[in-house]
Amino acid sequence: MDFNLKTNEKGNLSIGGANALELAEEYGTPLYVADEDRIRDNYNRINKAFTDQYKDFKIFYACKANTNLAVMRILEEEGSSIDAVSPGEIYTSLLAGYSPDRILFTGNNTTNEELEFALESGVRINLDSTSALERLAKLPGAEGREISFRVNPKVGAGHHDHCITGGDLSKFGVMEEEAVNAYRQAIDLGFKPVGIHSHIGSGILDPEPFKLAVHTLMDTAGHVYRELGVEFDFIDFGGGMGIPYTPQESLLDINKFAEEIVGLFKEKMYQYNMGNPTLCLEPGRYIVGDASYLLTRVNTIKHSYRKFAGVDAGFNTLLRPTMYGSYHHIVRANDPLAEPSQEIDIAGNICESGDLFARGRPMPDLKEGDLLAILNAGAYAFSMSSQYNSRPRAAEVLVKDGESDLIRERETFADILSKQNLPARLLK
Ligand SMILES: *Cc1c(COP(=O)(O)O)cnc(C)c1O
Repeated sequence: MDFNLKTNEKGNLSIGGANALELAEEYGTPLYVADEDRIRDNYNRINKAFTDQYKDFKIFYACKANTNLAVMRILEEEGSSIDAVSPGEIYTSLLAGYSPDRILFTGNNTTNEELEFALESGVRINLDSTSALERLAKLPGAEGREISFRVNPKVGAGHHDHCITGGDLSKFGVMEEEAVNAYRQAIDLGFKPVGIHSHIGSGILDPEPFKLAVHTLMDTAGHVYRELGVEFDFIDFGGGMGIPYTPQESLLDINKFAEEIVGLFKEKMYQYNMGNPTLCLEPGRYIVGDASYLLTRVNTIKHSYRKFAGVDAGFNTLLRPTMYGSYHHIVRANDPLAEPSQEIDIAGNICESGDLFARGRPMPDLKEGDLLAILNAGAYAFSMSSQYNSRPRAAEVLVKDGESDLIRERETFADILSKQNLPARLLK
């Protein structure tokens, strides 16, 4: 994987036609830079791959990967629907222009208040447990509502244990063996079951576990149909399609993936004589992951027991390396194709020893003031950022045809303090 790096005539990193060095000068660092065309291309590539195989196909963009309003608007324009996992994401999606029927709410350990919010918003509700079903049934306006269940198909997969959301250790979904009972209970409580859902994990580059989950979910859907006569409007296999983060990994062959998944889906659909449900997927990372770069500046070169390049971002800005041990490719923005000449640790500015973007990474010569670009910073990057160490969150810009727009202002100290109140007795 060569990461498709683009350079301008000076040999500087170019993002969507804009010079990364100039963006850093104009907006400061650390800075997230999103490439609009790349987001659109990624969406259209996966949409076309599946639509070519099966017309009744829909993408529910998993917006927890990147909830920036501009990104949400771009995908709304492309025709996407939304997978929302919280009331905050429902709220953001509505504001971004998605009608409620284009929003599927898949909560986890959802409170009654959250269920009520979902009911009132008019979004589709995907239930994670029969507890949620029973509590939903008691809420005003629940009678006759359309619902679906998230089923745990007993298989999981992902780039890290924390990202495996199926299998017998997972907290998500209704057990596959219990699915028929759950739907029966839903019918008895007066609901209208319209869909079935699974999501087995994230960062999947090997299609095999995903195929296994499709197999199981289709059998489960078939059993629900046979036993209860429920004809599903939609069958949703969740997200999880991976992108290459390391130079050794290669792209998921999305056309082959679509062919295999749709092949399995159709085989089971005919086997159970299920009609023509809409096939849904919920990619997050696949659509936005490689569309953004995190620009951060080297401020300290230090030789202690090891060699360090210290930068002005930290795990408060991009958590993945610290949280999952994830590899993110890093280049020197003034010459992203420069050959490595050393091995160096690239360390953030947070007061924790785990705050490292890379350990012993082969890099070209680095000096103080150099701008680095951390690749694949579009998914689970800004959306997981925090104010830890009282550091204001980074700014975000969107680039199209060489022009940039600030789509999120850099936070200030006032933002860090904005919700704090001193009790009167502590006022000075
Ligand atoms: C996080 C999530 C997704 C998206 O996962 P990706 O790996 O980003 O594709 C899809 N569906 C649900 C329910 C999720 O929680």
